[in-house]
Amino acid sequence: MLLKNKKVAIIGGGPAGLTLARLLQLHAVDVQVFERDLNQDARVQGSPLDLHEDSGLKALQHAGLIEQFKQHFMPKADRKKIMNAQAEVFLSDHDDLLERKFGDPDFRPEIDRGALRKILLDSLLPDTVQWNHQFISMQKQANGWRLHFKNNTTFYADLVIAADGANSKVRPYLTDIRAFYSGITMLEGYISNIKQTAPQIDQLLNGGKIMAFGHQKNLLMGQKADDEIGFYASFKAEESWSTAHQAIFLDRIKTKQWFKCFYSEWDAIWDNLFEHASLPLIPRPIYCMPLDQTWRTQANLTLIGDAAHLMPPFAGEGVNVAMLDALNLSEYLSSDHFSTLQQAIGSYEQEMRPRAAKMAEYSLANGERMHAINALQNMLNFFQSH
Ligand SMILES: Cc1cc2nc3c(=O)[nH]c(=O)nc-3n(C[C@H](O)[C@H](O)[C@H](O)COP(=O)(O)OP(=O)(O)OC[C@H]3O[C@@H](n4cnc5c(N)ncnc54)[C@H](O)[C@@H]3O)c2cc1C
Repeated sequence: MLLKNKKVAIIGGGPAGLTLARLLQLHAVDVQVFERDLNQDARVQGSPLDLHEDSGLKALQHAGLIEQFKQHFMPKADRKKIMNAQAEVFLSDHDDLLERKFGDPDFRPEIDRGALRKILLDSLLPDTVQWNHQFISMQKQANGWRLHFKNNTTFYADLVIAADGANSKVRPYLTDIRAFYSGITMLEGYISNIKQTAPQIDQLLNGGKIMAFGHQKNLLMGQKADDEIGFYASFKAEESWSTAHQAIFLDRIKTKQWFKCFYSEWDAIWDNLFEHASLPLIPRPIYCMPLDQTWRTQANLTLIGDAAHLMPPFAGEGVNVAMLDALNLSEYLSSDHFSTLQQAIGSYEQEMRPRAAKMAEYSLANGERMHAINALQNMLNFFQSH
């Protein structure tokens, strides 16, 4: 096996990095994950993730973790309502009698990010993850790399795999191609104790998701675990919008005024989101890697997940592509078909780039559809045809 007696370092303990670590350990590979979070109790931010049969769920199946997933996913959190700015419901699958099941290609079960991280962490050998290890830099040493972390420790690895997400600090060692701004910014918020604080929103959500469209703006929200919801206001804006506006979202009164003014055509029921969300709200400008990116394969370094192919979240594909990268890379690295690591990595990269580009293109197009003047009709057509 190509990785026999080799040390593998994965930078980043997100879904991509942890899935890869688990899959490599199933092949008895000596692997360490270096994660900047202080410890495993650090809160994982972000909306729940829907895993797809032919990618995210497939990776979990190969990792032997599908039963754990079934115990921790959020049944019915995939149910959705498509609404307009006046909070009228145009499409809802909450009363569908058809119960989607695992194995059905259209079933996209949702899981909280924290729950997914815990399933993956619990599957790893003790001390696989080195917490509080923020990657800073690396330099070539022998046939591998000497890694340097913010806590002043260093580590030697024969093979480095960058899984450190959108702003990867490892990626520049492979390519200087950078992400471009998609033209869309999302403002992220959370409300805990939703049943008490915002019962109207809780009733509308009914444990599922809402996508509301109007006037080229969106409100997207969904149930998280434990009586909490996450939501996004999503709209077209200049790239500099986030920096220019972030101070507003530290302050309750200014936040509410901003919503009233910017979403002036929207019904007052949505005010509840901005009245009760924990502050600050977080502006997230949405970026995408160029679809035609390529680089020269190296023998001791590669990329997976957002570090490789950041894409807008408008098709719910990011984590699924990331977990499929982990599965495919683990198979290339443990295959007997290659005589060198460089060949195995090159084959993975040639398979990964077009697969990810296809999903990124689809996500960009969906972003346009969701922020068009006729977004509501676009999305009704989309969901009715599926
Ligand atoms: C607003 C928004 C909504 C989204 N919604 C969805 C959705 O509904 N469905 C979906 O599929 N995808 C969604 N995505 C995309 C999804 O979050 C990513 O595609 C997915 O998390 C990628 O996984 P990853 O493991 O590659 O990266 P990440 O999840 O970003 O994990 C990277 C890890 O690396 C660590 N790290 C970063 N830098 C360093 C460093 N220097 N040293 C050490 N560790 C480091 C981080 O702490 C983190 O744990 C959304 C993204 C955004 C921005």
